[in-house]
Amino acid sequence: MEYLKNFIDGAYHAPVSGQYMDNVNPATGEVYSQIPRSGADDLTMAVNAAERAFPLWSRMSVNERSAILLRLAAGIEVRMDEFVMAESRDNGKPEKLAAHVDIPRAVSNFHFFATAIEHFSSESHYMENVGINFTTRRPIGIVGCISPWNLPLYLFSWKIAPALAAGNCVIAKPSEITPYTASLLGNIANEAGMPAGVLNILHGTGPEIGNEMVSHPKIKAISFTGGTATGQHIARIAAPMFKKLSLELGGKNPTIVFPDVDIKQTVKEIFRSSFSNQGQICLCGSRIFVHQDIYEAFKIAFVDWVSSAKVSYPADPNAQIGAVVSKGHMEKILGYIELAKEEGGRVLTGGVRVHLDAPYHDGFYLAPTVIEGLSNSCRTNQEEIFGPVVTIMPFAEESEVLAMANDTKYGLAASVWTKDLNVAHRMADRLEMGIVWVNSWLIRDLRTPFGGMKDSGVGREGGWEALRFFTEPKNIFIKHE
Ligand code: NDP
Repeated sequence: MEYLKNFIDGAYHAPVSGQYMDNVNPATGEVYSQIPRSGADDLTMAVNAAERAFPLWSRMSVNERSAILLRLAAGIEVRMDEFVMAESRDNGKPEKLAAHVDIPRAVSNFHFFATAIEHFSSESHYMENVGINFTTRRPIGIVGCISPWNLPLYLFSWKIAPALAAGNCVIAKPSEITPYTASLLGNIANEAGMPAGVLNILHGTGPEIGNEMVSHPKIKAISFTGGTATGQHIARIAAPMFKKLSLELGGKNPTIVFPDVDIKQTVKEIFRSSFSNQGQICLCGSRIFVHQDIYEAFKIAFVDWVSSAKVSYPADPNAQIGAVVSKGHMEKILGYIELAKEEGGRVLTGGVRVHLDAPYHDGFYLAPTVIEGLSNSCRTNQEEIFGPVVTIMPFAEESEVLAMANDTKYGLAASVWTKDLNVAHRMADRLEMGIVWVNSWLIRDLRTPFGGMKDSGVGREGGWEALRFFTEPKNIFIKHE
């Protein structure tokens, strides 16, 4: 049995308490490694190391920092296969997905911010006959990054890359459910020439080490991605300490299909937006609204496509749906399917656990599920399920679908499917979401602002937004004589 370690001050350390937790492979249901159950003592070591490293790292030239981060990106790239297998084993996702999305994207995150920092600039404001203001943007100090299990290294690197590029020292915690790929980063950081103490990776539970990080007075900013309830808890602790906070939280995203679409083509795209990564992407559309004129035709084609999707073990190159991340999460999703039935929903396809042949018989597989017959206001359509479950509902008018799309506490993302440019512009303008895709889904440009409105979070990540978050502006005024 492998025992993972924390990465502190450039070296791997067992947890001070000596306590570990099980790490389960969702594809088989078996425990395959042990994770440190870190606490306050481990955090103290990491904070001390980060404090020692900060003067060197924050004053290093941008070119040198950039070169180290580029070497880190290259270090992941040369171990692509190892990272792909590790991510898939930890999370249950098809290896094909980890190979095409998760790990290449983690490489891109380091690459993007390593180069972005070389182009990052700050403003100056000239005052005629008076003087000049110029604004510096310096690193904050020690920052905390806390990431979820759905896109483990992808979201972990999306936070630590800009934090490091901006000159901060980082203490980062991956989800306890998917810690493996983050634990591989330590050696790569050392090989890339990153000074000891600049990047520290602690493992353990949210309520233990996560909470310690959020409460620690020397950690000046927290970048968090996870559930809305956890985000509220973090804000309650961090806000009175005046920490900078970036919170990327849950969603209940609408997918809106107008009657002028090519049904066959749109069905394929909406299969992807509904069920990619077993529906465990915060951006997945889980409420599908279809115009009444094409509702029946779309429904038949969609259910046909979904019911033929292959649910299989992650190493199967033909797997379209892998395992969901844990037994507890699988049971939560099955609970929502039961709730949907109680609320009057009809399961058109799926709705059940799938048992594959040994050795995957006890893995956490669910058939992709489509439910109709529910109102937008029921719990199934208001609460985040975060699994391979979507509802489908007809609409008659643009104003009606707009009202339903906006009628949840969330405001993360939407996709709109139409050939009518006026409809597309009107909808995009009026949807209360941080991100709107038209005739597409999850096309990402790392320069764009990423994040949600309402209960989907506070702040934006990506591009300059991330570099602004991880720096402290100071305005300096020089008077003319
Ligand atoms: P959680 O909120 O349960 O956990 C997210 C991270 O926070 C994990 O590392 C977790 O640790 C940690 N954590 C939990 N409790 C605390 C605490 N009290 N203090 C500090 N850290 C804590 O979310 P999930 O991991 O279940 O992820 C799924 C959620 O993430 C969904 O709601 C999804 O919508 C959201 N998400 C949002 C995205 C966005 O960009 N808006 C993108 C991706 C996901 P541990 O796992 O070890 O308990």
